[in-house]
Amino acid sequence: MVLAALACSGPDHPSRAECERIGSGGHTARPGLVVLRGSRLGAVAKLDPGNPASCSDPGRAALFLRAHALLATVPEALRPARVTIHASPTVGAPNAPVAGLEYHRESASLLVSAAAVDMERTVWLHELGHLRAATRLPQAEPAQSVLAALDEGVADYYAAVTAGRPRLGGAHAGAERDLAAPPAARADDWARLALPGGLDVHRMGWRFAGLAWQAEPREGALVRFLLACMGDLRALSGAGPGPVARAWLEGCPEAGRARVEPLLRAWMPELLGD
Ligand SMILES: [Zn+2]
Repeated sequence: MVLAALACSGPDHPSRAECERIGSGGHTARPGLVVLRGSRLGAVAKLDPGNPASCSDPGRAALFLRAHALLATVPEALRPARVTIHASPTVGAPNAPVAGLEYHRESASLLVSAAAVDMERTVWLHELGHLRAATRLPQAEPAQSVLAALDEGVADYYAAVTAGRPRLGGAHAGAERDLAAPPAARADDWARLALPGGLDVHRMGWRFAGLAWQAEPREGALVRFLLACMGDLRALSGAGPGPVARAWLEGCPEAGRARVEPLLRAWMPELLGD
């Protein structure tokens, strides 16, 4: 386990002892939680992982403890098996720092700037939802955008049920998304797939998450069904958003299909008619 490699040197700081206690396998330790430093994001979304961070670094210790505490609030069945966090990674030739907190899909890891450690809890939970869903997207459109929107919706719903409230985001996170008051459907929602800039996957995901929240506003079978519908979706395709969604539904475990289908029908009513 990489945490065992956390070095013990440097000046003392308040969180160091706690970081070392957990990192060395204390009874509350979360296996699979790894914080790396010195990671670099290059061209074509390739990520060069750095080295395990040390508890003697206050910034990294704070990040480790924050992620550890958050994971403790997530039910076991919903916890990602691995949580790899790149602390303050840099991007591109000038090595510019990455800002904020984001999911890096290609490496199934989180990129977290120093300032983002204290981001509002539901923002973290949304990104942990992406990690847990581990969705891989096809290259071709419209499948990529439709499935990316579903992935955003599942991450929003995951955040809401694990936080126990429908309001996501907060002061640091820009606009708040309330799953109890999702944006209304627009006539051109799906037509936007054909426009430059394409589908607004966060807005469409918010709508899908709103439907899921309406169906089951708590951590229960629905969130587990939806997570089981995600994963490697690279082989999915379809001529339009309706056929893509139908192909996605057919890949869901049979036990959950009857719960997920009404959500899809309400999400794209004009496209899934028989
Ligand atoms: Zn997201």
